[in-house]
Amino acid sequence: MKSGNHMKVMKFGGTSVGSPQRMKEVARLFQPAPGEQTFVVLSAMSGTTNSLVEIADYLYRKNTEGASNVINKLEQKYLDHVEELYATPAFREKMLQFLHEKFDYLRSFTEDLTNFGTAEEKMILAQGEIISTTMVANYLQEQGQHALLLSALDLVRTGENGEPDFNFIREATVKRLRENPDYDIYITQGFICRNARGEVDNLQRGGSDYTACLIGAALMTEEIQIWTDIDGMHNNDPRVVEHTEPVRQLHFEEAAELAYFGAKILHPTCIQPAKFAGVPVRLLNTMDPAAPGTLINNDLQRGTIKAVAAKDNITCIQIQSSRMLLAYGFLRKVFEIFEQCQTSIDMICTSEVGVSVTIDNRTRLTEIVNELKKYGTVEVDENMCIVCVVGDLASGNVGFETQACMALQDIPVRMISYGGSHYNISFLVKADDKKRTLQTLSDTLFKKR
Ligand code: ASP
Ligand code: MG
Repeated sequence: MKSGNHMKVMKFGGTSVGSPQRMKEVARLFQPAPGEQTFVVLSAMSGTTNSLVEIADYLYRKNTEGASNVINKLEQKYLDHVEELYATPAFREKMLQFLHEKFDYLRSFTEDLTNFGTAEEKMILAQGEIISTTMVANYLQEQGQHALLLSALDLVRTGENGEPDFNFIREATVKRLRENPDYDIYITQGFICRNARGEVDNLQRGGSDYTACLIGAALMTEEIQIWTDIDGMHNNDPRVVEHTEPVRQLHFEEAAELAYFGAKILHPTCIQPAKFAGVPVRLLNTMDPAAPGTLINNDLQRGTIKAVAAKDNITCIQIQSSRMLLAYGFLRKVFEIFEQCQTSIDMICTSEVGVSVTIDNRTRLTEIVNELKKYGTVEVDENMCIVCVVGDLASGNVGFETQACMALQDIPVRMISYGGSHYNISFLVKADDKKRTLQTLSDTLFKKR
C-alpha cells in the first residue's frame, strides 16, 4: 500500500455506471498515474436501487407475484449486459453464473415471507452495489488490469447511534490495504455497510458519496473525487435560471450549506469526514473528464458570494402570543413540540411576540399545529421555498446583505435569516416566486464580477 498522498478515491454514481458502455468509459478513468493507486467506490447501476426498493415493498405487502415480476425484469436486463461488457467466453460464463446466483438469492426472499422485515429489506437493497462492483471489477480483470474488489461490508460499519464508526472504518480499510498492497485499483461498494449488530445495512439513499468521503478521510488520500454527469456545482439552479456558471471552488462549509439547500449534487452530510480530515473533495463530470469541476477544501475566498440555491416544499408555521413578551421558556415549549413530533426545524425568526419556523417534513403537521395552539395563535403557510445565498458572509464583510435584499425589492419575502452561520443568508418566499427570486439574485450578485 502506498501512502494516502499517492492515492485518490473516485466515486461514480448510478448514471456513470448506468450501462455497459458507460462502465467501459469510466473504467478508463480509474487508471492511476505511475506510482499511484486508485480507490474506486461505485453506486448501483441507475434505476437498480429503486427496483430493489420496489421488490421489498411488494414483499412487505406479501405480494410475491409483484416482487417476482420486478426481479425477473431486472434479471433480464442484467443478463443482457453480460454479452456487451465482456469479450471472452470465460468471463461471460463466470458473470452469468454470478448473476444467476444473485437473482436466485433475491428470489429466495419470496419463498418465506413470515419474517420479512427491515433486515431482509436491507439485504435486498445491498445487491445493487454488490452486482455493479462485481461487474466492473471483472471487466477490469478481463482487461488485464491489476484490480481488487473489496467488500464494503468488511470496511464500513455504523455504530450504536447509526452513524458511521470512523475508527472501525479506518482500521479495517488500512488493514485490508496492508494485506493487499500491490494493486493499482481497489474497488468497493458505496452505500452499503454493516451496523453495530453486524447486520447488512446502508448509509441511506444517495449514501455512496458518504462512503467515498469516509474512505478518503480514513486513508487520508490526496483527494476524493465525486464523478457525476454534470459539470460540478453551479452558482444557481441551471434548470430554473438563465446564465448560471460553474463554481470552481467552495469552502467545506459553503458546500455543506449548498448540499442541504437542494444542490443535489452531493449528499448533505457526506463531506463532514473529508472536512475533518482536511482531504479536498473534487466534483467532476464523466461526460467531460477534462473539465476542472468544483474543488471543495478549507480555503475561503474572502468576501465572495459563491452561489444561490433553493429548497422546495417548505411549510412555515407562525406562533404569536402576548405571553411570549418578556417571558422566558416560551421557545423551549415551542421547540419541545417539534422534538416530540420528530420534525426538524430549518429556519427560525423571532420577534418579541411571535416566532416563525419552517419545516420540510409535513407528516406530523396537524399534531404540531394542535399542540402549538395551546401556546398562541398559529398560522400555517404552505408551498413556500427557502432561497439561500452562500458565500463568505461574515458580518465584517459589509454590504452583502444589502445587495441580496435590494435584489429582492419586488418580491414578497416572508422570512429572512442571517447570522446563523458565516456562510449563509436565507429568504423564505412563496413557491410561485421562486423562479424570479433565483433569477434576480443571480442577475444582481453574479453580474460580471
Ligand atoms: N444506490 C444507492 C441509491 O440509489 C446509493 C447511491 O447511489 O449513492 O440511493
Ligand atoms: Mg447519488
